[in-house]
Amino acid sequence: MNSPVNQIKERLSIEEVVSSYIKLERAGANLKAKCPFHNEKTPSFFISPSRGSYYCFGCGASGDIFTFVEEFEGLDFKGALKLLADRAGVKLESYNRENKEKEGEKERLYRAIEEATLFFENNFSLKTNQSQAEKESKNALAYLKSRGLEDKTIKDFRIGYAILDWRRLYDFLRSKNFTDLEIEKAGLAKKTEKGMYDRFRGRIMFPIADSSGRIIAFSGRILIDDGKSAKYLNSPETPIYNKSSVLFGIDKAKDSIRKNNFSILVEGQIDLVLSHQAGFKNTVASSGTAMTDSIISKENIINNLGLVNRLSKNIVLAYDADKAGINAANRFAKIALSLGMDVKVAKMKEGVDPADLISKEGADAWREAIRNSQHFIPFMLERIMKDAMSDGRKIGRGIRERLLPFVNDLESSIEKSHFITLISNKSGIAENALMEDLKKVESELKYETEEIKTAKENVEKKLRKDPIERRLLGIAFWQESMQNRAIDPEIIFKKLAKAREVYKNVKEDLIYEAEEFYATSEDLQKDINEMMLSIEEEYLNEELVRKMIELKNLKDKKEEIEILKKINEINKRKEEIKNSR
Ligand SMILES: [Zn+2]
Repeated sequence: MNSPVNQIKERLSIEEVVSSYIKLERAGANLKAKCPFHNEKTPSFFISPSRGSYYCFGCGASGDIFTFVEEFEGLDFKGALKLLADRAGVKLESYNRENKEKEGEKERLYRAIEEATLFFENNFSLKTNQSQAEKESKNALAYLKSRGLEDKTIKDFRIGYAILDWRRLYDFLRSKNFTDLEIEKAGLAKKTEKGMYDRFRGRIMFPIADSSGRIIAFSGRILIDDGKSAKYLNSPETPIYNKSSVLFGIDKAKDSIRKNNFSILVEGQIDLVLSHQAGFKNTVASSGTAMTDSIISKENIINNLGLVNRLSKNIVLAYDADKAGINAANRFAKIALSLGMDVKVAKMKEGVDPADLISKEGADAWREAIRNSQHFIPFMLERIMKDAMSDGRKIGRGIRERLLPFVNDLESSIEKSHFITLISNKSGIAENALMEDLKKVESELKYETEEIKTAKENVEKKLRKDPIERRLLGIAFWQESMQNRAIDPEIIFKKLAKAREVYKNVKEDLIYEAEEFYATSEDLQKDINEMMLSIEEEYLNEELVRKMIELKNLKDKKEEIEILKKINEINKRKEEIKNSR
């Protein structure tokens, strides 16, 4: 029987899939593009239609339609499989090999979340004799209406309500045969000495979906503020929800971002749904994203912006223009600028958020705010000049402290010099004085710039190494579990010893992926050879960086010869691999 993977591969060409995300150019028998996985000006991303694969000579990213969708969309293998199966018109349900009949852990969690979503949705049409619950859900619905949400929007976004009670959802899920552990793992209930109780109580429930549209978590807004509880409560990290990799609304926004060639970033759930309702389907929301200054948080923001950035370089920040909003927007702006994105800020009055603007002044006012959005640098400059009220020294200080750090983040030197001229023209400060200060800012912020750079590199490295490591390990785990092996798994384990540790807790997923790919395929050995080379290349690059650092920090001259010899060997091996392609 032909597996879904093979059916999909037969129906969808790599050309068709990749060109639905990025623009391709002909290059002989192949196609090329600017690589979506690293920032570049000239195309080094090549697609081979005959082999059904892609390879980037700039960063080493490589794979097939499945890895492409996984990395581009930030999905796991099953998410990519669902998305591509939908697109190819291949049914997944009918495909049940004997050993697949047992539902995996993640499937159970997805299903628990789906059941919970339905449960919360149904609470809006509650007809019971429990008058309190009915009253609550009516109030919740009335609240949403008062904020300007239409029935269709509530339905489309599958918004629901969690009644203020201890274990309604828990009891419901138990009746659907979910275990305590599953309910807890899905982040829906908490365990205490007195038993289990629902995590979300008395809250309006906004489902959070991944880019393939699977619901993976919730954000709950409190209905009646008791002064003690958080206004918004999000699901904890779970095996299916990684907080760092999801912007809310991305599943509904991605096509529109690509078509309109820009995205709108708002803060809250209600901003998001109202913006969609007003016709701006290219809107995503950041709420819940870690907003601290740590390097992890920087990686989170880069991850979050990743898909949006790959779909379009243009982004409009539409945050509540109060101070907290500006700070949050600033963190995104800094990283977006350093990713080479074109960052604009929507023109809204201070203290007004997008939801207020849309519900009170209508969709047209929102359209105007977007249309009149301004590049981040002149936006900040205007604000600084307004705050300083034409006090020259204050303006100078404001520019130095609040603006030049962003100019410093700009990726391109041409842009930098463009904005320095603009700031000089508007503020009357001489260009060379600004340049001098920019140099000082540059050295003061060296640490931060380095951190952003490291975070960027970590994310990029993950993008190109992860899929290969996962696929190879999957094959090895799968073969290890078989009696009649087609290959010796130890060869893979030996090379990927470290990665094996990292991925051992998702072993079942990886086996599933490998089986889907190779159970009925003849390409196993050929693919392994190719992936082993790619991964070797990646490891050599990492080794090279380490050796360079060693060389730089060298105290003992005697070691120098040894390290140089090693570097020479690495480069020679890299050349061999390159020539074998
Ligand atoms: Zn690349």
